Amino acid sequence: EQHIRREKATSNICTAQVLPAVLASMYAVYHGPQGLRRIAQRVASYTAIFVRGMQQMGYDIANASAFDSVTVKTDDATHSIAERARQSGANLRCRLTNHLGVSLDETTTREDLEMLWSFFVKPGQPMPRLGDFEKGVEPLIPEELRRTSDFLTHPVFNTHHSETGMLRYIRMLSDKDLALDRSMIPLGSCTMKLNATSEMIPVTWPEFANIHPFAPQDQLQGYAELDQQLRDWLCQATGYAGISLQPNAGSQGEYAGLLVIKAWLEANGQGHRNICLIPSSAHGTNPASAQMAGMTVVVTACDAQGNVDMADLKAKCEQHSANLACMMITYPSTHGVFETQVKELCALVHSHGGRVYVDGANMNALVGVAAPGEFGGDVSHLNLHKTFCIPHGGGGPGVGPVCVVADLVPYLPGHATAGLPVNGVGAISAAPLGNAAVLPISWMYCRMMGPEGLKQATEVAILSANYISARLKDHYPTLYASANGHVAHECILDLRPLKETSGVSAEDVAKRLMDYGFHAPTLSFPVPGTLMVEPTESETLAELDRFINAMIAIREEIRNVENGTWPQDNNPLKHAPHTAASLLGADWDRPYSRETGAFPLATLKQVKYWPPVGRVDNVYGDRNLFCSCVPVADYA
Ligand SMILES: *Cc1c(COP(=O)(O)O)cnc(C)c1O
Repeated sequence: EQHIRREKATSNICTAQVLPAVLASMYAVYHGPQGLRRIAQRVASYTAIFVRGMQQMGYDIANASAFDSVTVKTDDATHSIAERARQSGANLRCRLTNHLGVSLDETTTREDLEMLWSFFVKPGQPMPRLGDFEKGVEPLIPEELRRTSDFLTHPVFNTHHSETGMLRYIRMLSDKDLALDRSMIPLGSCTMKLNATSEMIPVTWPEFANIHPFAPQDQLQGYAELDQQLRDWLCQATGYAGISLQPNAGSQGEYAGLLVIKAWLEANGQGHRNICLIPSSAHGTNPASAQMAGMTVVVTACDAQGNVDMADLKAKCEQHSANLACMMITYPSTHGVFETQVKELCALVHSHGGRVYVDGANMNALVGVAAPGEFGGDVSHLNLHKTFCIPHGGGGPGVGPVCVVADLVPYLPGHATAGLPVNGVGAISAAPLGNAAVLPISWMYCRMMGPEGLKQATEVAILSANYISARLKDHYPTLYASANGHVAHECILDLRPLKETSGVSAEDVAKRLMDYGFHAPTLSFPVPGTLMVEPTESETLAELDRFINAMIAIREEIRNVENGTWPQDNNPLKHAPHTAASLLGADWDRPYSRETGAFPLATLKQVKYWPPVGRVDNVYGDRNLFCSCVPVADYA
């Protein structure tokens, strides 16, 4: 939606929370309906037992029905009970002034129940005994709310209930996947770099993984220190004065940053300014975020080299001078080029009273060599899940910190529960530190790399992109480069001329790359008919060469179409990707051999990725939803 409807989009979501969603689905696959019901019944029974014990001690429970949470009327004893619990390592929820909240879950043990009661027992009173309640305690779920219908009836939720079975199911799925564990993922604008194991391990430590985001501040000191240090380092890397780690994706950082600009304008009596200038080359989230922040988007032109057209920008600034709120640019641009006039651009927008938003998703080309906060940017978001190593294959979890210059710091997101000021734009996400659990990854990356290492990573990322662009130039010209012929950290390969000479499209090449064991580069973005390649610093020279050699071999295949050896509509590119089933059927009537289909390079005979599905009709698929579930008749 953000890329196609742009400033008319109703959502700016790009990076989502897919990995956590997959984890949740795997929980359902493993436990199945019976397991989930058993877990839920145990939680509900323990809750009912807890309530019986509380009633025996004379407490009133505020809620007559419950699944896992109850509110206990504690009156004058509220503070002392909560304090006793805290000293034993348990946080009870203080509700209003004279109630305490208790929630159980499937990790709650019999010992936990007895410990909980011990907080509430009054002097001289006997402690309730578990054994007295274990038989015949009914869950406190009202009869009419109890579920009687079946759920999770699909076979996938009723098959993989042993650990070995689960392991094989996940392995079967990952065998279908063409991920970083097999090859580079050259997706431009995505920065698919190494997520080092040493960066990932702290995420699993209970100290980071198991703490509640609303735990009392004095129990969150480790996170507070991590937050402070990471914010300091990221400010140094970007040249900004202040930063909030709260936004959960780059798009959310954009939204937060635009709200900061609006809050600043309003505080300065300029609340009427609502025009947001965005060059036509911008990533789709930019106009979508501006629209969501209630701004009016005015698109500015790009010149033939893909740079912001300064004459058009000057005209638009003058035309909208009285109402100009800001301009959003990406640096280096989404065309993969360092635009040399960026300082003049920022100064021009400032001279008309607007602020400059620099989309920082391409920081992998900047860290250590240039800083948006120094060349004229006022606000930027970072994508910690791109530049700072948080894995985002499949779409998240993300962290999109928003960084600002000094006079905008007071307007950064706040959060009431964390004691953060709310005089700025208020809370941007539910938890005060956003996706806190993945922050140790970026912390580890910065800490292990150090300033020199981060700078070197940037230099190698730029070098790698230029190497690919230079080695492929006689096969696929790079569409945009700066005056010295160089690109930034990614390059756009122009495949449009091939359509004329061979009928082969960029999509055909993207699909054929799968037969060669590569994930496709970014297809037709930001320019239709092109492939955008971003190698990052993580790929070795050998892997870059393997990719380049595959691209050159594909160019030779295209030549076979150009010279008529293969028909335009019947060749390995149009039939790609080749599944084992399509190659090993009894009949074979194509003008190329089965071997050419499966093993276009001899090296593939040693390591081969087998695409699980062949070519699909994208347009038909988008317009005709179909269900891959078990047929409805099977349920009858
Ligand atoms: C990835 C990207 C975004 C959006 O970031 P998300 O974290 O996916 O929301 C915005 N702008 C550019 C240039 C990007 O590459």
